[in-house]
Amino acid sequence: MERVVILGGAESGVGAAVLAKVKGYDVFLSDKGEIKPEYAATLTKWEIPFEQGGHTESLILNADEVVKSPGIPGTAPLVQKLRAQGTRIVSEIEFASRYDSAKKICITGSNGKTTTTSLIYYLLQNAGLNVGLGGNIGRSYAYQVATEHFDYYVLEISSFQLDDIYDFKPDIAIITNITPDHLDRYDHRMENYVAAKFNITRNLTPDDCFIFDSDDDITIGHLSNIVLRCKMLPFSQKKELSQGAFLKEDKIVLRYEKEETDLYLKELALGGKHNIYNSMAAALAAKATGIDNAVIRNSLATFQPIEHRLEPVLSIKDVLYINDSKATNVDSAWYALECQKRPVVWIVGGTDKGNDYSVLEGLVREKVKYIVCLGVDNAKIHAAFEGIVGSECITDAGSAEEAVQKASKAASQGDVVLLSPCCASFDLFKNYEDRGEKFKAAVRSL
Ligand code: ADP
Repeated sequence: MERVVILGGAESGVGAAVLAKVKGYDVFLSDKGEIKPEYAATLTKWEIPFEQGGHTESLILNADEVVKSPGIPGTAPLVQKLRAQGTRIVSEIEFASRYDSAKKICITGSNGKTTTTSLIYYLLQNAGLNVGLGGNIGRSYAYQVATEHFDYYVLEISSFQLDDIYDFKPDIAIITNITPDHLDRYDHRMENYVAAKFNITRNLTPDDCFIFDSDDDITIGHLSNIVLRCKMLPFSQKKELSQGAFLKEDKIVLRYEKEETDLYLKELALGGKHNIYNSMAAALAAKATGIDNAVIRNSLATFQPIEHRLEPVLSIKDVLYINDSKATNVDSAWYALECQKRPVVWIVGGTDKGNDYSVLEGLVREKVKYIVCLGVDNAKIHAAFEGIVGSECITDAGSAEEAVQKASKAASQGDVVLLSPCCASFDLFKNYEDRGEKFKAAVRSL
């Protein structure tokens, strides 16, 4: 029996282990850290042997194949040892796709993955298709391949998950956009990060589609250096396109093959310039799947905002509180500020990932009246914006509650209090969800 060893015991690793078990492999899972109780319970239930708190090399180096979880860097000593002895290392999506014949729509990019993925899933559901949602959202792809049967999958895929793929092939691949993020995992070289994202296109054939942002210089720059043999479906808010999606006056025009479809901007459920891009990408994926125009229009008009992404929380004394805790980089906060039509009290800060705040200066000057810094070290934010809003209009907070209190004092009728932190959350919170929940709880108790 072939031996498959899984490294990493979280969502994707446990999913891969269950699938390997179902397919009759001799399976072993190893995690250097602690495995969450619910995942350990799943492994026990499926009678899969595992270890945690360290790797026993003798149980790993004898693998015929290793499935590496995306959280483990390629530079980890054990991974290097496996590579040196010639053991094949694959990612969970590569492994799972061998056992799945469903059509796959796969979404990667720096920002907008979850929104675009959820929109497409909603569109395919509304069209009555038998569709699964997975990858970085919800249950892993491998777990679903082991336990479900779908005709379509909509998969959100991070660049780490694309690191070890060989034959994995989407039917429709989407790169929402590419801006600097996670560069620490790519030797601080942007070209490595861009190449990792473009891995999603490596096996596309003439029957497949590639959907991409043609206003994004990084994407376009990379495309000029490679050859893709699939159908190209760009989207743009700046220029008319012969195929793809573009803006014309107050509507999105979809040009797909010989057909042209209009979608009115005022009918889109999601606001903001960034969501026009996301809606364009989703609509093109729907066209390429053969979904009716009426379903596309209706779905884009009725989609509900997702938690922690420009999520309206409450309006109190005509001050609207918005939770955009998922904005963990400068680009996403840029779009959050850009779409505000009312004066903004901005809650920003956290773990800085080497941010360059200068791109936000114009928007802050134009829209932000007061800043509450929510982080352990706020020096960079003060340095960047104190000169713009004035030192009397910037303050610090050490908890979501304190931030909301201070923001509500600074806000007056007609303002928006926007949590769009630009930064990771790990200095004060467990993760971005925890930050968003605490923000919402604080707003509700005002
Ligand atoms: P991801 O899954 O790639 O992190 P999300 O859809 O969860 O993306 O959105 C993350 C953050 O980025 C949110 O603050 C959201 O408002 C913002 N955002 C969403 N779509 C885009 C886009 N196309 N370009 C820039 N920012 C975006």
